[in-house]
Amino acid sequence: MAQKRSSAHIKAQKEGKEIDEYMCFFCCRQFKGNHGHHIILYSEGGIASSDNMVTLCPECHREYHNGKIKLDLVRF
Ligand SMILES: [Zn+2]
Ligand SMILES: [Zn+2]
Repeated sequence: MAQKRSSAHIKAQKEGKEIDEYMCFFCCRQFKGNHGHHIILYSEGGIASSDNMVTLCPECHREYHNGKIKLDLVRF
């Protein structure tokens, strides 16, 4: 079901970014190339849904995964 997951994933990424208007959650930079980050990782039971996505610019995304910034992610 890898195929199915990846199309759901792409759709969720796109929806999540559209909801956020492509604006980085952390620094508020608006950029079409911003990333969709999973609030709950698939490996931790996260779902491919825009509810589980947050938009981050490439820089904040990298910093986040480097543990340099912390996000209070409450979207539900
Ligand atoms: Zn940012
Ligand atoms: Zn991420």
